[in-house]
Amino acid sequence: MLDRSTIWPYRDGEPGEFIYQRYGHPTGVEAERRVGELDGGHGLLFSSGAGATTALVLTFLSSGDTIALAEGAYFGTGVIFRELERWGLQVVEFDQTRPPPGDVDLVWLEAPSNPFLTMPDLEAAAAHPAQIVVDATAATPVHLRPLEHGADFVLHSATKYLGGHDDVLLGAVVCKSDEDAERLKEFRTRSGIVAAPDPCALLLRGLETLGPRVRLQTASARELARRLNDHPAVEIVRYPGFGGLVSFDVAGADEARQVETSLRLITNATSLGGVHSLLEARARWEGDRVPPGLLRLSVGLEPVEDLWEDLVQALDGSVSD
Ligand code: PLP
Repeated sequence: MLDRSTIWPYRDGEPGEFIYQRYGHPTGVEAERRVGELDGGHGLLFSSGAGATTALVLTFLSSGDTIALAEGAYFGTGVIFRELERWGLQVVEFDQTRPPPGDVDLVWLEAPSNPFLTMPDLEAAAAHPAQIVVDATAATPVHLRPLEHGADFVLHSATKYLGGHDDVLLGAVVCKSDEDAERLKEFRTRSGIVAAPDPCALLLRGLETLGPRVRLQTASARELARRLNDHPAVEIVRYPGFGGLVSFDVAGADEARQVETSLRLITNATSLGGVHSLLEARARWEGDRVPPGLLRLSVGLEPVEDLWEDLVQALDGSVSD
């Protein structure tokens, strides 16, 4: 399945299906077919989730246009949009549990938002005249297919659950309309925000186990969220009821650092969606946008009792006498 060619010879002087890797390559086309199938639309892959975000916005918006961005969505998405303000883009944030503001050109939702784990009101958004993007990285198509709820585009950081092994950097957009997919693909080809064959092959491998992985991660996360709720060192647990992400708050930055540095099984690292559990305090990246004690846990495939034992010993050390 892995074809690393950048060129394919013409036949009788005529270019064939594959010409030059930036336009498309067999490994990518197969991975896109699979990703498209999962969300029920036309899939396109990009070099990262952030690359997919950039390509979407630059393809469909122009200088002077406004994006309504879900408050509390992945902080890097807001960073990209604010970077693009230099080019005339405008951004307003709104509470995605309520209808989007009226006069905007694109609505950007996150299901669930990372790291606050709120769910958007998809029905209210679908009634909005602007095009709707749902970043469903954390939900995955196992739990949510936003195109069936009126979204025009689904975005994934395929680096996370779709790849699933912390060894692939990729982004995906699944478009409802073939015409939009054609426009986005044309921009991707011209701009070069493309997915290389090697990560596409690893993505195909990861997709083979997506369902069982996510279902087990959900079962473990649900159980851990329930138990965390009762732990005396935990002030708030945020869990939307599905998926492998749980955010919970300890008292403050010192307690969060104590938990991070006491872990034995869970890795203290950024990112999410892989087979190994990861945890980090998000304030190191997001500053005062998040509480200083907010810890984001991405639940992997380890036995849930082992994960709980690790969390308890790390949390117990964070309780001051
Ligand atoms: N969207 C969400 C919800 C994310 O969590 C991330 C990365 O953490 C991205 C998009 C960006 O994806 P990438 O890191 O693959 O560029």
